[in-house]
Amino acid sequence: MSPSTLGTVTETRVISEILQRAADGGRITPEEALLLYTDAPLHPLGEAADAVRRRRYPDNVVTYLIDRNINYTNVCVTACKFCAFYRAPKHAEGWTHGTDEILRRCAEAVELGATQVMLQGGHHPEYGVEYYETMFGAVKAAFPQLAIHSIGPSEILHMAKVSGVSIEEAIRRIKAAGLDSIAGAGAEMLPDRPRKAIAPLKESGARWLEVMEVAHTLGVESTATMMMGTGETAAERIEHLRMIRDVQDRTKGFRAFIPWTYQAENNHLKGRTQATSLEYLRLIAVARLFFETVPHLQASWLTTGKDVGQVALHMGVDDLGSIMLEENVISSAGARHRSNLHELIELIRTADRIPAQRDTLYNRLAVHWTPEDDPTDERVVSHFSSIALPGGGAGRSLPLIDAK
Ligand code: SF4
Repeated sequence: MSPSTLGTVTETRVISEILQRAADGGRITPEEALLLYTDAPLHPLGEAADAVRRRRYPDNVVTYLIDRNINYTNVCVTACKFCAFYRAPKHAEGWTHGTDEILRRCAEAVELGATQVMLQGGHHPEYGVEYYETMFGAVKAAFPQLAIHSIGPSEILHMAKVSGVSIEEAIRRIKAAGLDSIAGAGAEMLPDRPRKAIAPLKESGARWLEVMEVAHTLGVESTATMMMGTGETAAERIEHLRMIRDVQDRTKGFRAFIPWTYQAENNHLKGRTQATSLEYLRLIAVARLFFETVPHLQASWLTTGKDVGQVALHMGVDDLGSIMLEENVISSAGARHRSNLHELIELIRTADRIPAQRDTLYNRLAVHWTPEDDPTDERVVSHFSSIALPGGGAGRSLPLIDAK
């Protein structure tokens, strides 16, 4: 046996041992996660990740959500290079929505069975804590049944700066006004080098995590995301996971991890290599093995497509995310996949999983044990705006906002 063959045998044995330990629920190190990400054979990697999912959710249930992303403004001072959604202050295509428009959109969402709204927008130079208190307060008063899973650490840092208050005070006040949960948005890539390359004016990854840690300590849970495919290395992707896990070890406040792939249209990162489907699926599987402390793992069918989203259900994923009655940010950059209630349920069922509608906290609202249990509301479909609609589409009813 040649030395190189010996090396291969040894590496194969090491990878098998790590996969087995992780599949059994043991902790793996960042170095081991990187080895799995770059070198583990795809099928054993996926099987190990799915073994973890099965142990956590032995009834084979995979959840989905009905929610609406509502953007209150596209005006932003942060100018992230990958973002196709924002407009600089004073730009002719900039818009803001008043409370009436936001409530009108919430009402449409409730009518279609949504249990959550994701209120998100740019870093408007005038929006301090008071703006968010007013908005969340109005939504909560009108629709107490809607969970407000909204904004992210970037918005919190921005509003605290505009109002001249601490992160802690900003979070306490918006929580009191109605915020239920912080979205994991704005994580992009947390390590410094790739983050500065794509979002030089955004807060650091360490600050993003600091806000999340304060929020978790104050009893506001969140999710965590990752945008892959803007030129970061494999090691930087794993470092992103490590940074999140370190906070999770202290707070247990991240309910889910949601990686998604960068969309390349209409922004200033032209020419960047997007993450391939296999890179995405390998990352999904490694995340399931690495995050033994994060309960849920969500596939992003919006950016990767429904087929890849369905394959991810065999690589450790237990949640297919939302039908997204409205989404404008990622679709502005080229994500044109759409779905509907029937199709999302079919994707789960034909992947040999049991579909269930969940709420923001992952409580199961309805488990569709058999096709006879499936809901049939054909109005529950994705409505995207792939361009910045004039005035942000104000006053237009949901069915008129279309990917075309
Ligand atoms: S990603 Fe968010 S913070 Fe960055 S430019 Fe777009 S709207 Fe602004």
